Amino acid sequence: MVRIAIANQKGGVGKTTTAINMATALAATGWKVLLIDLDPQGNASTGLGLNQADRECNSFDLLISDLSLAECVSPTRVPGLDIVPATVDLSGAEIELVEFEERTHRLKTALDAGDDGRWDICLIDCPPSLGLLTLNAMVAVESLLVPLQCEFFALEGLSQLLQTVERIRARFNPALSVMGVVLTMYDRRNKLTEQVSDDVRACLGNVVFDTVIPRNVRLSEAPSHGLPALIYDHRCSGSEAYINLARELIGRLPVRKVAA
Ligand code: ADP
Ligand code: MG
Repeated sequence: MVRIAIANQKGGVGKTTTAINMATALAATGWKVLLIDLDPQGNASTGLGLNQADRECNSFDLLISDLSLAECVSPTRVPGLDIVPATVDLSGAEIELVEFEERTHRLKTALDAGDDGRWDICLIDCPPSLGLLTLNAMVAVESLLVPLQCEFFALEGLSQLLQTVERIRARFNPALSVMGVVLTMYDRRNKLTEQVSDDVRACLGNVVFDTVIPRNVRLSEAPSHGLPALIYDHRCSGSEAYINLARELIGRLPVRKVAA
């Protein structure tokens, strides 16, 4: 399976919203999708309607307790989409990981061992930091998808992220690349949005997806119903944008799924 981490060390930039809706859009095209919730806040799990009871086996167990991937996976109400959910236990994982010699490779090892051909693609929703959890994600994947909010310090945050990617590439994972940056919470009426967007495109060129995700209240309402926006309101501007982004993302994947 293709593995993509959705990462940005800033909180509130649209990582989880992107993870949920891209996973749903990809599942809707017939891909078998695995979403790994790697944020102790568990927002991706909640946003997909998983109760605490559905999270008995979770991403903490996958990283720390040596449970297999198959043991940690739960189905979701989205056909074709499975999840490894997260609970607050995961906040202790950063500390427990330090005890392991292979602390940066725990997730990669678990995914390598658990990839039985059941899924075409795996998305990882990262926490808002560059700690050991995000590091594990970056070691386990070949590509990063970076949501970026068009605000004043966006480029500073991005250059810090890109430096981290360089370091990980040099030390742990030479295959790692940024497959795309997606501008989120885009507000066409806001001058700053436009200015930052121009700067980011001038700086990064084609790495930035053509599709932008508009600021759209339906995207923020959907999680409280335990549903992806793509199911809650598939015709809202946010859902349409994520469908377009999925199309663009598929075009950038190194390996395409052959239609059955
Ligand atoms: P992160 O995972 O990076 O912390 P989230 O995806 O959780 O970010 O988004 C932060 C907040 O902004 C959430 O309340 C979410 O519902 C909301 N949000 C995300 N994307 C949009 C958008 N395009 N339009 C409006 N609200 C959004
Ligand atoms: Mg999040």
